[in-house]
Amino acid sequence: MGQYKSGIYETSVKGNHGPINVRTTFSDEAILEVQVFDHGETAGLTAPVFQRIPQAIVAQQSLNIDAISGATVTSEGIIAAVTLAVEEAGGDVEALKNKDQASNDKLEECLSTDILVVGSGGAGLAAAISAYEHGAKNILVLEKLGTIGGSTGLSGGGIAAPGTKFQREAGIEDTKVSWMSLWKERQASSNPEGLYPNYEVVDKFMDEAIITTEWLHDYAGHAYRQIYGFGVDPVRRLHDPIEQKDGATLGQSLIQNLVKFLEDHHIELRTETAVKELIWEDGQLVGALAEGPEAALTIRAKKVILASGGFAKNEEMLQQYVPQAAGTSFTSMATPGATGDGILMALDAGATLYEEPWIIGLGITSYLQHPVMQSLMMDWSKVYVNQIGERFMNEQSHYAIAANQLLDQDATWLLLDSAEQNQALVEALETLLPSDQAVKAETIEALAEAMNVPPITLSQTMQQYNEGAEAGQDAFGKDAEFLAPVRQSPFYAIKMYPLTMGTFGGVKTDEAMRVLKADGSSIENLYAVGETANKVLYNQVYMSGSAVQFALTSGRLSGEHAAKHL
Ligand SMILES: Cc1cc2nc3c(=O)[nH]c(=O)nc-3n(C[C@H](O)[C@H](O)[C@H](O)COP(=O)(O)OP(=O)(O)OC[C@H]3O[C@@H](n4cnc5c(N)ncnc54)[C@H](O)[C@@H]3O)c2cc1C
Repeated sequence: MGQYKSGIYETSVKGNHGPINVRTTFSDEAILEVQVFDHGETAGLTAPVFQRIPQAIVAQQSLNIDAISGATVTSEGIIAAVTLAVEEAGGDVEALKNKDQASNDKLEECLSTDILVVGSGGAGLAAAISAYEHGAKNILVLEKLGTIGGSTGLSGGGIAAPGTKFQREAGIEDTKVSWMSLWKERQASSNPEGLYPNYEVVDKFMDEAIITTEWLHDYAGHAYRQIYGFGVDPVRRLHDPIEQKDGATLGQSLIQNLVKFLEDHHIELRTETAVKELIWEDGQLVGALAEGPEAALTIRAKKVILASGGFAKNEEMLQQYVPQAAGTSFTSMATPGATGDGILMALDAGATLYEEPWIIGLGITSYLQHPVMQSLMMDWSKVYVNQIGERFMNEQSHYAIAANQLLDQDATWLLLDSAEQNQALVEALETLLPSDQAVKAETIEALAEAMNVPPITLSQTMQQYNEGAEAGQDAFGKDAEFLAPVRQSPFYAIKMYPLTMGTFGGVKTDEAMRVLKADGSSIENLYAVGETANKVLYNQVYMSGSAVQFALTSGRLSGEHAAKHL
């Protein structure tokens, strides 16, 4: 008798966004094919997982397969679905799970390219496209995760620019002056003595942003479905990606269009291949070493463009460079690839770093694990107090400013009562209590005790807030539409933390994005783009749609310069 009852088995497991449905074909002796035929996983970005995990299961006849970094839940889902199929086919699951992994002895591969791009986010893909446009035909993009797109793929994907032809066609009047005045107002909201932004560079960036937005459409094959303003950024200057046929929108749609350009023009992109170090000969940059899934790579390159994002997911770097934000790496929404690799490689090469690095705030978050809690990320109708029981900010703030405000507090609590509008939250909280992250009490004084906050202060704070809410006049200037008295017991308080989506910082560059040393000279053949070099535009506050725009614009500029100087 064989190992399996031959046949085709369809199994289903829970993925990130609904079921992952897998069809596994067995002969008597082997797993012949694994096919994911339906899933709700993030369109496009997880695509490599659907090839590599099934291939590995079949090639190794094993269920002891490593998940693909950046797509762990999806990888494990596919393996779990095949496990169910093996059970149904009468196979020995334990034996397949305990099978030794394929030998880790790696092959060595030597490659040669004109331009090596490190990272497949917006900056890296734009760099590759622009290099191609300006004559380079031998370009290699390496991505360390199993997924393409980095934080850019997770972002809204809308790019801001002031005065594009698309805005004019839509009858939108916009100018650099208008964007610049918002930029200055926002950057002045914290760290008033800050060294950045460099407004000359911001001004140039705004001109280049217009070019990039039109170039993406006219040359790179991208398209916009609308131009919109975002809440507290009322001017309609965010160019929002079209929806793809497979339903992908936002940053995923942008990445899909850029990847399509690479595919159509035969520009090589390898995933699961991490660049580890730059290589030098006689003081000249000549390439890089990388680790791929099957081989250790030595890549000779005439130019290297570091487009590896920021360091929001590197706790050690946060502690060293932005100690106020220590701990935020654990909840950061940035790509798991944001570990500062490019910044560290450039530093090793003698680059100089921007002073005053900071985080890019995305609002506030709770550690409580429940989908409803996500609504608190930017819920202006709630009240925040600190550990001395006082309000410290207008909750109706831009999400980046809100994150910064929380960084200044020892602790932040969000208060809510049992009023009708909070029912979904209250129901969720009841399933999560008791917890060290939330408390409940019948009175504000008792709530204060549970929060370890001075009861008299908290009572006064809430009394003042409630009076203001009833009068429609808030001491911190919150608009009346977001004012709701907190009166109906029981009361709840939830601990909140700053939520990040990236970092401001990285290595100093010149206008062409060439990496600079402390003496102001550039390191020949080395470029840094996107979050690897973005601090020049910001003090501590992100401007909606500017980070993806900077990734694309800086990528475009570096690719052009690199190609023209081969
Ligand atoms: C959830 C979320 C929402 C956001 N929303 C917006 C928004 O709406 N608008 C906006 O303007 N900005 C937004 N941002 C910020 C913006 O997306 C980023 O600042 C910007 O896209 C960064 O682009 P990048 O190309 O520099 O880096 P990324 O897009 O992060 O790409 C870097 C890539 O390099 C890879 N990499 C890292 N190290 C290596 C290595 N050693 N070898 C090979 N590859 C490596 C990473 O895995 C990653 O894929 C958002 C960010 C997040 C996380």
